[in-house]
Amino acid sequence: MSIEDKEKEFSVFESMAARYDVAVRKLGLDEGLSHYLRTPNREITVHIPVAMDDRTLRVFDGFRVQHSIARGPCKGGLRYAPNVTLDEIRGLAAEMTWKCAVVNIPFGGAKGGVVCDPAKLSLGELERITRRYTAEILDYIGPERDVPAPDMNTNEQTMAWIMDTYSMHVRHTVTASVTGKPLDLGGSAGRREATGRGCMITVDEALKRFAGKRDSTRVIVQGFGNVGSQAARLMHESGYKIIGVADISGGLFNTSGINIPRLLMYVEKQKTLQGFDGGEAIGTQEILEQECDVLLPAATESVITSKNAHKVKARILVEGANSPTTPPADDILFDRGVFVVPDILANAGGVTVSYFEWVQDRQGYFWAEDTVNARLKQIMVSAFDSVVSFSEKHRVNNRIAAYMLAIDRVAFAIKLRGIYA
Ligand code: NAD
Repeated sequence: MSIEDKEKEFSVFESMAARYDVAVRKLGLDEGLSHYLRTPNREITVHIPVAMDDRTLRVFDGFRVQHSIARGPCKGGLRYAPNVTLDEIRGLAAEMTWKCAVVNIPFGGAKGGVVCDPAKLSLGELERITRRYTAEILDYIGPERDVPAPDMNTNEQTMAWIMDTYSMHVRHTVTASVTGKPLDLGGSAGRREATGRGCMITVDEALKRFAGKRDSTRVIVQGFGNVGSQAARLMHESGYKIIGVADISGGLFNTSGINIPRLLMYVEKQKTLQGFDGGEAIGTQEILEQECDVLLPAATESVITSKNAHKVKARILVEGANSPTTPPADDILFDRGVFVVPDILANAGGVTVSYFEWVQDRQGYFWAEDTVNARLKQIMVSAFDSVVSFSEKHRVNNRIAAYMLAIDRVAFAIKLRGIYA
C-alpha cells in the first residue's frame, strides 16, 4: 500500500480527540472542564499575499492554533506543506499541550502551518511567505505569548526570519521569540539533535524493560529528516543496528546494518536516499512491516492504521513523528503486546530543549552541550517512568497513560487559576 492509497481512517484531530475522550473518562474529569480542555483557546487563519519571483502575486493560507495557556505561554512548531489543514493544526496544537505537560515544562500547546509546497518555492519566496505570515500573527506571538519552532519543511533559517521580523516590529532583538534558531542567533547547543536524542533515550528505557542490549537491537526508521536522521545517527553511534530507513522517495533495507555516516553524507549531497548502494530498495510503507526489534516512524502522521498494524513485527514502537498511529491501530498493537512509546512522550525531546533555549535566551546565558544533554536525559527518563507507572497503576496502554498524566496536570493548573470572567 502506498502512502497515497492509504485511507485516512482518522484525521489528526480525531485521533487526538478519541484518545482524549478515553483518558478523560478514566480520570473522571467533570464535563465542563473536559469540554474546555478539548477546545482550542484561539484559532487564527491568515491569507498571505506574496510577490513571487516571476512578479505574479499569490495568496497562501496560513494557520496558527493556540490550544492552551493554562501552564504558560503557547509553544509549537510551524509546518509548510501542500496538504496542511486547519483540522490537522488543531489536533497538533492540542497534542503540544499534552506533550509539554507530560515532560512537565511550563508551556501550553500551539501549532502553525502554511499551505504551500516548499519544493516548488525559491528561498526568496519562502522568506517572503515566512515574514508576511509572522507579520499577520504578530499580535498573538512573542516570548510570553506563543513561541514557534521548526516542524515539517521548516528549519533554523525559517526561525531566523521569524525572529528578525518579530524583532523589527518591536524595535529590539528578541531571540526568545522562537526556538530552533541557528546557534549564532541564540539557538541552544543540542537543539538540532534533541528530538532524535529524546527518541533514543526512550528506546534505551524501553529496552531495559525487555533486558535488551543496544548491539543486538535491530532498528527501522521511517523518515530521514531532522528527527529520523538524527535518531538514526545517534543510535548508530551508540551501537544499535539500523537495518532499515526510508524517506518520501523510498526505503533501504539491509539486515547486516546500514552504514549511517556514509548514508548521511550521501543524503547531504543527493537530498534523497534513492540510489544509495548500502541496502536493498524497499517501499516507504513496506519498511514498517519488516522484522525488527524497534520501529521508529519519524516521517508523518497516520502511517500505522488498522490496515497494517497487524503486520508490524517490532516489539517496541517509538513514535518520532506526531500522530503516526491511528486509534484503531493502537488497539491492534496493544492486543499484540507491542510496547508503544507514544508521540507525546517519545518526541518530546525537541520541545524540552526548545524550553532550554527559551530559558537561555531570557537569561542571556548559554549552557554547554553536555549540560543540555544531561538535563534532557533527566527529563525524558523521569517522564518515561511516570507514563509507565501511570499505565501500570491505571491498567491502560502507554498512550492513554500519557494523556491521563498530561490532562491531569493541565486540569489541576486550571483549577488552581480558576476561570477568569
Ligand atoms: P523533516 O521535514 O525534517 O523530515 C521529514 C522526513 O520524512 C523526510 O525525510 C521526508 O522525506 C520523510 N517523509 C515525509 N513524508 C513521508 C512519507 N509519506 N513516507 C516516508 N517518508 C516521508 O521533518 P521532521 O522535523 O523530521 O519531522 C518529522 C516528524 O516528527 C513530523 O511528524 C513532526 O511533526 C515530528 N516532530 C518533529 C520535531 C522536530 O524537532 N523537528 C519535534 C517533534 C515532532
